[in-house]
Amino acid sequence: MTAKYAQVVLGLPLDRAFTYSIPQDFKAGVRIGQRVHVPFGRDVKIGYIVSFLNKTEVKKIKPLKSIVDEEPLLDRDMLKLTRKVADYYCASWGEVIEAAHPANVRRRTRPLPQTPQAPSISQGLLEEKLALSPRQKAVLELITKSIRKRKHEVFLLHGITASGKTEVYLQAMACALSEGLSSIVLVPEIALTPQTVERFERRFGDRVALMHSRLKARERAYQWQRAKTGQAQIVIGARSAVFAPLANLGLIVVDEEHETTYKQKDTSPHYHAREVASLRAKLAGATVILGSATPSLESFYNAEKGRIELISLPERVTKQDLPEVSIIDMRREITMRKRRANIFSRALEVKLREVLNRDEQAILFLNRRGFSTYISCPKCGYVARCRRCEVSLTYHYASKRLICHYCNYSIEPPQICPQCDASYLSYFGLGTEKVESELHRLFPRARIARMDRDATSKRDAHTKILNDFKNGKTDILIGTQMVAKGLDFPRVSLVGVISADTALNLPDFRSGERTFNLLTQVAGRSGRGEVQGKVIIQTYAPENFAITASTRHDYHQFYRKEIKSRKILRLPPFTHLVNLSLRGHNQKKVQEAADELSSELKEKRTNKGIQILGPAPEAVSRIRGSFRWSVLLKGSKQDELVKLLKQMRCGSGRYKGLRLNVDVDPI
Ligand code: ADP
Ligand code: ZN
Repeated sequence: MTAKYAQVVLGLPLDRAFTYSIPQDFKAGVRIGQRVHVPFGRDVKIGYIVSFLNKTEVKKIKPLKSIVDEEPLLDRDMLKLTRKVADYYCASWGEVIEAAHPANVRRRTRPLPQTPQAPSISQGLLEEKLALSPRQKAVLELITKSIRKRKHEVFLLHGITASGKTEVYLQAMACALSEGLSSIVLVPEIALTPQTVERFERRFGDRVALMHSRLKARERAYQWQRAKTGQAQIVIGARSAVFAPLANLGLIVVDEEHETTYKQKDTSPHYHAREVASLRAKLAGATVILGSATPSLESFYNAEKGRIELISLPERVTKQDLPEVSIIDMRREITMRKRRANIFSRALEVKLREVLNRDEQAILFLNRRGFSTYISCPKCGYVARCRRCEVSLTYHYASKRLICHYCNYSIEPPQICPQCDASYLSYFGLGTEKVESELHRLFPRARIARMDRDATSKRDAHTKILNDFKNGKTDILIGTQMVAKGLDFPRVSLVGVISADTALNLPDFRSGERTFNLLTQVAGRSGRGEVQGKVIIQTYAPENFAITASTRHDYHQFYRKEIKSRKILRLPPFTHLVNLSLRGHNQKKVQEAADELSSELKEKRTNKGIQILGPAPEAVSRIRGSFRWSVLLKGSKQDELVKLLKQMRCGSGRYKGLRLNVDVDPI
């Protein structure tokens, strides 16, 4: 290596590389993809070498301080991929590189620990493949053909719940292995899908590496290392596992591809693992399977346009048909029962009793945790709110406190209204805790468990709850969306949706889609074994078509209607959106900056097809004391939006004391 200078990117929101000179004495060791210590301002930071230069215009160049590891952390493919992701999401390259590596791998400046001897599972103990149904076979054949050709292809596998999709993934992965190729399986939330993970481990033993955020830092680094060294050829994990350091990639499976957990929402880079999977597979010549019972509108539209290939499994492989679904109009229940705040309709109560009598199991779903969702003064209208966020506080019975679901701020509930001093406060709204307590009152002998973020805050708590349910130690499991996904319990014959309206009422154009997905998924938990399943959906909007379509399990009907309205309203997948969010503690400054940003965008816009909406305060206009205003860009071509943004130099500390957050394809 004779280069004089190295270009280094840093894990900061600055989308540019910095130039450093390479000291004479370690030229031999310097390679692309290596981590290096570099002086930056008054600090020393870890950076990543992305290229070399022989000359530069830059003045006052400092030398690299030291090389962190001899073996580059990133190979050329990973550099290419992270660069592409940064381009697509208008993010900094360094930040994408950091998102692609577990913190413990990135920060460790000593070599990674030697891989301990993994317990070796002999091939003979591994579970055999199932004999496929003719439909599964047909679908698998298309996929394996593509894997063997090593030609990049994306399949959308639309299969109803329990149609045998997972078995198809397993056999596709076996095919990849036999070709000497590795696979990645992405699942929406790994800690919530222990059953799926177990199936992969039973089939592939110690060739599997697990990657997810609930692992201890050391364990994560260890699993990463096993993938990097080729000891594991299969990686299963949540969103960030799409960057797993596997060589010879042949297949990426994105299970439940419609799930929003694939999008990194809170921190930059705001990538979507489905998008990254396609970018990565394209570079690697690998096959992608996007699997879902309720594909995202984006993916189904892509399939319709012929950009990806649609394959489907329209029938269950198990004995039972899809469960029968009834809608209960809760408006009528109220007048019938003359009781406020009734949680269980008569129909649901009757069915629950039957389930208990027959010694079967039920799952109840409500997408809101806590006891009462707000407390308020009936006299003056005071509502208890968070001091730092623009939201009301939720009452939690277990801790007897009012808690903010955005920042965890909590207070003891006041007895008397602090505003008018004249009245006691009333408790309104319904959360999982209250459902649980009402259940105990209604069915004192039933064994009841609750699964939500409060009940699973301790490590492994969710595993225990699910194991108890599996082993028949629990009769009724009540939970948030944690119980909606992927669970496969054959004795569950009833699913009750306490309120279908929580997702519908969100101020979001995807609320119908989300409601349809959630109801279909949760309904799919019922009737997976010997007994026919039953689903009861309680709602105040019984004519809403996301709800009625889900009772018929009719994805196609839902899609037709939804895609039409997206087209009329010029929303994704017909357009791309970019959300620019300005945040800061001074409301006036935030607002002024948002105005200025919007005006400048309008000035710089040459393409009249690009719409600039706002600025406007966000739905939750203050979080942790920080005000939020946003400007929304809308345009038919994603790259044109990004081009406009690049001219704006959005990343680099454009506004003093404020943060500008750029989210491409926001969710
Ligand atoms: P999905 O992923 O579509 O929900 P699964 O692959 O989990 O479906 O299959 C549902 C159930 O049917 C699982 O218990 C699975 O073991 C079983 N199963 C899948 N394929 C077959 C098959 N070809 N023969 C028998 N049982 C099968
Ligand atoms: Zn708060």
